[in-house]
Amino acid sequence: MKDVLKKDILSLHELIIKKELSCVEITKAYLDNISDKETDIQAYITITEDLALADAKKKDEQLTSTDNVSLLYGIPGALKDNICTKNIKTTCASKMLEDFIPPYDATVYDKLKKDGMVLLGKLNMDEFAMGSTTTTSHFHKTHNPYDLSKSPGGSSGGSAGAVAASQTVFSLGSDTGGSIRQPASFCNVVGLKPTYGSVSRYGLIAFASSLDQIGPITKSVYDNALVFDAIKGHDVLDSTSVKRLYDTSTCCIEKDISKKRMGIIKQFCSQGIDDSVSIRIDKAIKWYASQNIEIVELDMPSLDWAIYAYYIISSAEASSNLARYDGIRYGFRADEYKDISSLYEQSRSLGFGSEVKRRIMLGTFVLSQGYYDQYYNKAQKVRSLVSMQFDEAFKKCDFILAPVTPSTAFSLDNIEKDAVKMYMEDIFTVPVNIAGLPALSVPCGMTDEKLPVGMQLIGPRFSESMLYQLGYAYEQNNKENRND
Ligand code: GLN
Repeated sequence: MKDVLKKDILSLHELIIKKELSCVEITKAYLDNISDKETDIQAYITITEDLALADAKKKDEQLTSTDNVSLLYGIPGALKDNICTKNIKTTCASKMLEDFIPPYDATVYDKLKKDGMVLLGKLNMDEFAMGSTTTTSHFHKTHNPYDLSKSPGGSSGGSAGAVAASQTVFSLGSDTGGSIRQPASFCNVVGLKPTYGSVSRYGLIAFASSLDQIGPITKSVYDNALVFDAIKGHDVLDSTSVKRLYDTSTCCIEKDISKKRMGIIKQFCSQGIDDSVSIRIDKAIKWYASQNIEIVELDMPSLDWAIYAYYIISSAEASSNLARYDGIRYGFRADEYKDISSLYEQSRSLGFGSEVKRRIMLGTFVLSQGYYDQYYNKAQKVRSLVSMQFDEAFKKCDFILAPVTPSTAFSLDNIEKDAVKMYMEDIFTVPVNIAGLPALSVPCGMTDEKLPVGMQLIGPRFSESMLYQLGYAYEQNNKENRND
């Protein structure tokens, strides 16, 4: 049965439709592995065991013909706990939403359900997705399956850790400034931050609405494309969702990648990157170059400012989005208060953790009269510049290869206490969100300490299919990097 945990989605699908393996058997194998590993990893906030087994049983009974069975039929998956699931707790890893049971499903979950996915549970994260370590969760820390003394990254640390430890076949995370790509890189799995507007945000609990995107985390590039195909598309319930013809990423994944032009960003090369990371990135660059891919150097000075713009814009939006948690309509309400003001104050003081409070204060400050022009407006100008420089860059190259993070997974007993130093770790991931671009994080090797390193493949808007082709070609030819 252990073999089941090693199979990719297509192999499981084949076995399901041939009735060589039942949905219940697959679900049980995953639930067993969750209980074996959960004491160590702690990837989940909620495990929906009974629901998953009942659902899998129903799926087995309903599988009467092999025609038109969706590829995700009977496949176990799990969701980051900021994605709303009707009648199933969705906590955002916060005391504020500890008991929140949404009355509706997020569009992504609705789509996956229609495709037949079996939900295993809800995954741990940094509180309200603010962070890079999954240590700001109100519930518990998640551990990196590659080294339990390390963080799996964040904020989608539960989503990446659970996939890496075979506690689910696939998961969804959310990425506002790197929260899918960085944990994917720390846990040796594949993560996509999709083009802004290609995956519905309806039912995703908002952090910074102009930057948030939901995306898949999987062991292989092919599985990732398959899940992306299932969740993407226009949604009338999300006003920022883009109406267009979306192609199928899986069907052309084996396409020849030669003759493409690969951009390398000059500004990224001058940032302090650990040798253990840069060696692996350089090796990946050489591999692409060996595939008849031309290297183009890109000068993008605005990227030096992107990290500052990101923390101003994301905090500003967070302060506005999180204003709704006032102890009246949603979430936690303090037991003791004197009047309405003290009800707000007490509920927000006790309901939010310190990182969330820091962002709310920062965001309120940059939006306040007198500072708005100095900070928020300036950050928006940087944002436009970053987008323009990416547009220019993609006239000279087809895709960009970059590191995901300057270092490998952080030690759990030594998490950086200096918030600004921690924010600087997002230097390579945030420009992509600022410009609304897609980026795929692909494993590209292990350090001597056996810690995973990931690279980022960045493309123009809606170029996910090309990124999958590039990632797939690399993965198939560098199999030693894979997590099987
Ligand atoms: N680490 C970044 C932050 O804390 C990214 C978070 C995210 O993408 N959700 O803002």
